[in-house]
Amino acid sequence: MKDMNDIHGNLIGGEWLPGEDVRPNVNPSDTRDIVGHYASAGLTAVDEAVEAARSAFPAWSAAGPQVRHDLLDAVGTELLARKDEIGRLLAREEGKTLPEAIGETVRAGQVFKFFAGEALRLTGDSQQSVRPGIDVTVTREPVGVVALITPWNFPIAIPAWKIAPALAYGNCVVLKPAELTPGCAHVIAQLLHKHGCPAGVFNLVMGPGKVVGDALVSHLGIDAVSFTGSAATGERIAATCGKLRRKVQLEMGGKNPMVVMDDADLQTAVQACLNGAFFSTGQRCTASSRLIVQKGIHDAFVDVLGREMQALRVGDALQADSQIGPVVDQHQLESNLFYIELARSEAAEVIGGQRLERDKPGFYQAPALFLGTTNSARISREEIFGPCASVIRVEDFDEALTVANDTAFGLSAGICTTSLRHGTEFRRRVEAGMVMVNLPTAGVDYHVPFGGRKASSFGPREQGRYAAEFYTVMKTAYQSA
Ligand code: ADP
Repeated sequence: MKDMNDIHGNLIGGEWLPGEDVRPNVNPSDTRDIVGHYASAGLTAVDEAVEAARSAFPAWSAAGPQVRHDLLDAVGTELLARKDEIGRLLAREEGKTLPEAIGETVRAGQVFKFFAGEALRLTGDSQQSVRPGIDVTVTREPVGVVALITPWNFPIAIPAWKIAPALAYGNCVVLKPAELTPGCAHVIAQLLHKHGCPAGVFNLVMGPGKVVGDALVSHLGIDAVSFTGSAATGERIAATCGKLRRKVQLEMGGKNPMVVMDDADLQTAVQACLNGAFFSTGQRCTASSRLIVQKGIHDAFVDVLGREMQALRVGDALQADSQIGPVVDQHQLESNLFYIELARSEAAEVIGGQRLERDKPGFYQAPALFLGTTNSARISREEIFGPCASVIRVEDFDEALTVANDTAFGLSAGICTTSLRHGTEFRRRVEAGMVMVNLPTAGVDYHVPFGGRKASSFGPREQGRYAAEFYTVMKTAYQSA
């Protein structure tokens, strides 16, 4: 057992508590490096966290927007001021490169500051009743106690874009971050605590999803659940919430298409695909995993993209010249290698994809391109969540659009073209929550909605002022003088 002073505890009712177990947070760039030891909560801790949140709710929901603004603004300011140090922690625990990790920390800071402002801007409606002499007002109230369950791939931005609107609109929170990346969530908890978040308004319970997450989602003291993660877990959570008639918001996978038309600018297309498919080690739900390429540009595109992909430097996330960090853990690496092996029978050619050795033990893998494959192959239908992309050759725009839409998912979709008609038609007809023209499928703003259609998402959108749809409930009041 570690000395308690070395363990990062759970935050429950304003107290840092040890939990039932302790887990090491391992650096995927160098598995000898332990980022820290983090408490793992038991079922009693989940009960205590929900109870603390329930007790804090009456005062917090009545506290008004100024106090919420000030808290979120202070957290945002400190995240921005400490972006290099917190970004370093992020890169160390998750494995994305340092510039990407610092960028994500900045994003988390911006999100806190944005929702600080939103706390002051929440509006309602006032209308005349159809019955003379009666006033009708439509106002938004907090939902109550929200459970937030987050994945490892954006360990600070995703907790930020759930916690900030939840608190801004007067809810109390219990956060269960991913087992692999508790460090960044713990930093947010420290900052909220330090800047005066009242006891119980924000609670952190770390630990395994199947135990802590499951207990939280089905807890009777929870009013709403916001989840980002795999489709399988999302389905389970939706089933539980449906049974309990509980508000739920799910962000799950993608198999995002990037169409490259003959009339595309070749360099624009190659850069968009390099970024979209391989940056952040392809571990983004908005990653471009199906490159749908028209026949005229196909060979030139594949030639340049293949060369540039193989030139990407894969290495330690903290090393200045690394462009692609390691895969997050052994389990994910094995899953990627399984799909790369599968591609040998489902594609005409596989470029890259080999396991890489570096001067330290880490989960390094070369990015992979699957050439000459079809949209019906498993490698083109199932989310791999690694630096791997299928290239699917098509005749014309209509076939490209049909293939783009022929998927269970509908998160992000992109097209590279210099044709106004193709860009416009694609934007109008593609079945996705987010559309990118001459831009990578990944990389979004924080003040506009984020989310998808079909199997990718369920419930109201996240981010921007639209986040109020999930984190508030409406009340229609009729009043006669
Ligand atoms: P990934 O494959 O990205 O890890 P998961 O859906 O397993 O996706 O994990 C996303 C988040 O959901 C993590 O915080 C994880 O601990 C949590 N989780 C996993 N299983 C469950 C479950 N049965 N109930 C609630 N949360 C869960």
